[in-house]
Amino acid sequence: MIKENLLKIKQSIPENVTLVAVSKTKPIEDLQEAYDAGQRIFGENKIQEMVDKYDALPKDIQWQMIGHLQSNKVKYMAHFVDLIHGVDKLKTLVEINKQAKKHNRIINCLLQARIAKEDTKFGLTFDEIEAVLSSEKITELQNIKIVGFMGMATFTDDELQLSEEFSSLKNFFEAQKAKTVLKNCNLEILSMGMSGDYQLAIKNGSTMIRVGSSIFGNRNYNL
Ligand SMILES: *Cc1c(COP(=O)(O)O)cnc(C)c1O
Repeated sequence: MIKENLLKIKQSIPENVTLVAVSKTKPIEDLQEAYDAGQRIFGENKIQEMVDKYDALPKDIQWQMIGHLQSNKVKYMAHFVDLIHGVDKLKTLVEINKQAKKHNRIINCLLQARIAKEDTKFGLTFDEIEAVLSSEKITELQNIKIVGFMGMATFTDDELQLSEEFSSLKNFFEAQKAKTVLKNCNLEILSMGMSGDYQLAIKNGSTMIRVGSSIFGNRNYNL
């Protein structure tokens, strides 16, 4: 089923939208099946689990960290991670920069914006993102690159609310893109949309969707 699910989703999204297959909690065999169907971008939310899967699977996979980050664990993935979605502190960027430097790499990062009305979600307010992008410190971080923003909408069926949340981030993204002139910043990715809301996210400007259960089936526990 994984192959069929993947192909169905790929056919239903525009070419300029990147599909991240969210494989957290799923066994290696499931990831291998997706790989054999052509998928090369995988998202995980626990660093240790991602490292184990990285070690076990082909090396042309791009591994993306979509979970909330603990700074002290960044070092375990710094040699291979392709993109880190959930950055919501300048301090975390400093740590990613430090670890990336050790491996002579530049690590791509997305700043996580808080767009949901719920207060359980992580992320920065738009003002806080602007403060990060205009800080003195960020100009010193030569081993990171901020390539865009990530947002998670409220867990709701209310399409109007979801559209409002997505489009508010899209508008903010476009405004920042137009005015940000940092060497280590090239805003081109807007990561919004999961299994339940990716169509709506794409309608509202998403360029990258993070889809788990619609590809791999439901997870046994809620993460
Ligand atoms: C788990 C997760 C997803 C995927 O969720 P599905 O509803 O299974 O598609 C996307 N983004 C983040 C940040 C996640 O933690």
